[in-house]
Amino acid sequence: MTKKAVVVFSGGLDSTTLAYYVRSQGYDLHLVSFDYGQRHSKELVYAAKTALVLDARHDIVDLSSITPLLAAGGSSLVSGTDVPEGHYAADNMKATVVPNRNMIMLSIAGGIAVAENAEMVATGVHAGDHFIYPDCRPRFINAANAAIVLGNSGFGSIPETLEGYKPMRFISTPFIDMTKAQIAFTALELGVHFEDTWSCYKGGDRHCGKCGTCVERLEAISQAVEMYVEEGGQLTHWPDLTDYEDRNYWKTALKEGV
Ligand SMILES: [Zn+2]
Repeated sequence: MTKKAVVVFSGGLDSTTLAYYVRSQGYDLHLVSFDYGQRHSKELVYAAKTALVLDARHDIVDLSSITPLLAAGGSSLVSGTDVPEGHYAADNMKATVVPNRNMIMLSIAGGIAVAENAEMVATGVHAGDHFIYPDCRPRFINAANAAIVLGNSGFGSIPETLEGYKPMRFISTPFIDMTKAQIAFTALELGVHFEDTWSCYKGGDRHCGKCGTCVERLEAISQAVEMYVEEGGQLTHWPDLTDYEDRNYWKTALKEGV
């Protein structure tokens, strides 16, 4: 029987690369997206494209009913606060925090994984997120992993007797020590279709190229291409076919520390 993994999947670059990666490890995929009614719900449309490419089951969990309750602090992902432009610095990123977000997603995806006898639930948290999002840090992931394993021992693929149970890693985070550029590099290696991923927080028809996530994305892909070529990788064209409103702003943003 093929082993199975549930992937927390937003349709962004990180989780799309994660889906390709987990697939490359020989898992059957169940991709699970969460709809917070977020203004960039566009990424869910992109998520569906990748699900097709990977021939994976894809479900969208509707959490829009809790959105107003989570937006009390004015998070710009779900409320009307202006999306900050410029590099994805700490202050910008603090404006994009949804309280308890990873716990909510991991607990639902973890439940699905137990129900389906999957061996793990994978999430694309990475080093670049640690400094601002406490729920992307290894300590939180370890705690969440322990909570799911303890709360479900004897169910799904989690044994009743946990002594000697490996992996204690029911939650898999293969990118947790990677930078965004290293994830983009992995994406290059795995042949991820960058244009099928959505990062922009502005919610337009095209990637704006100027918001924090767009700047971060363009910088990461550019660094990844450099690394890839340095290591002797062959590229016949620029691998990122994404349509950006402004493809060059990120360089200015970085130079001027916007
Ligand atoms: Zn943008």
